[in-house]
Amino acid sequence: LSTGLEAAWSKLRGQEVLTKDNIAEPMRDIRRALLEADVSLPVVRRFVQSVTDQAVGVGLIRGVKPDQQLVKIVRDELVKLMGLQGVGKTTVSAKLAFYLKKLGKSCMLVAGDVYRPAAIDQLVILGQQVDVPVYTASTDVKPSEIAKQGLAEAKKKNLDVVIVDTAGRLQIDKAMMDELKDVKRAVNPTEILLVVDAMTGQEAAALVTTFNLEVGITGAILTKLDGDSRGGAALSVKEVSGKPIKLVGRGERMEDLEPFYPDRMAGRILGMGDVLSFVEKAQEVMQQEDAEKLQKKIMSANFDFNDFLKQTRAVAQMGSVSRVIGMIPGMAKVTPAQIREAEKSLKIMEGMIEAMTPEEREKPELLAESPERRKRIAKDSGKTEQQVSQLVAQLFQMRVRMKNLMGAMEGGSIPALGN
Ligand code: GDP
Ligand code: MG
Repeated sequence: LSTGLEAAWSKLRGQEVLTKDNIAEPMRDIRRALLEADVSLPVVRRFVQSVTDQAVGVGLIRGVKPDQQLVKIVRDELVKLMGLQGVGKTTVSAKLAFYLKKLGKSCMLVAGDVYRPAAIDQLVILGQQVDVPVYTASTDVKPSEIAKQGLAEAKKKNLDVVIVDTAGRLQIDKAMMDELKDVKRAVNPTEILLVVDAMTGQEAAALVTTFNLEVGITGAILTKLDGDSRGGAALSVKEVSGKPIKLVGRGERMEDLEPFYPDRMAGRILGMGDVLSFVEKAQEVMQQEDAEKLQKKIMSANFDFNDFLKQTRAVAQMGSVSRVIGMIPGMAKVTPAQIREAEKSLKIMEGMIEAMTPEEREKPELLAESPERRKRIAKDSGKTEQQVSQLVAQLFQMRVRMKNLMGAMEGGSIPALGN
């Protein structure tokens, strides 16, 4: 889809203000791209209308060119449009069956999305892949009825778990909510899991709120964590519903489903890299015990400059900094082009920490409180006072953010499914 739209933007370059006329051609391209992507016509119409309404009259705002703003308007609308479709519900259903099967449970999948025949076929194919039976009915049977029949069938076969894959429509509408409530009433499920696409970011909050209020969820599954998104949606889930994320999807393959680890997520959201992956790598060069202690320290939001130094040294010992740079808290999101820069700042940090007394390394508070100490460190390490202040601030920021995130995300755990 995005490549199809590439040409659309270029036609707008150099325009000072967006008008109905000059966006007509790009909008036609967008319309075509959406239709090619199999989006239904009324939805495409609504989409184009909404984008047009927002775009006409837009000029240069704070240095952002009109064509760039149109890209943003379209992207935001696309996120809204995608809503629940294509978030990965069907994929997750099959993955979950596969996951539970590995835990020794016998499962059945039920095809409860009757709005697109392709959805039923998709589940059947995935079911074959993971060798789990799929219960299907014709598309004129109500999903709640299908769920009930599937459950009866599974009981007859003495299976442990029934997973019902349901529909998700473009807009969260009353009919869909009623349908899900019907399914709930019909089978009284142990778990009601909302599938959330990690890419939806903050949009997830509204989605989770509505579903939790209307249907009542027991938890969520976050999909597409293998993508670029940092997974901010994870925070929304916990924050607005109080319900845990139970599992995460990290790819299209059936084995790409894992329990949710709040600590790993915390690192990802902060752009701090994967702390645990760092520790795994660090174990290659550090004593196992030291590496674990270091990890605990980081997670406890208590880590000090000694830990900071241990980390940077472990990294240095690992050889290529570029290989592990993304795993160092506070230094992630580094592109290859920035690696030399990062190596330099690592050296600078190390120099400043080396100029600290053992006591200062253990108690960063001392440095926060005393400009004299910071001045001395700056002098001894040949850096500016500002650089020292920045380093101290960075450490405290990391502590606070880590603590908040850990608090916000606790509750995610390996799900108690089945029985
Ligand atoms: P549904 O409409 O919510 O049932 O979504 P589907 O299960 O049909 O998935 C939509 C698309 O997303 C499919 O192409 C899946 O292969 C893909 N998908 C699902 N989960 C993941 C994931 O964790 N990572 C990636 N990269 N793709 C996924
Ligand atoms: Mg589906």
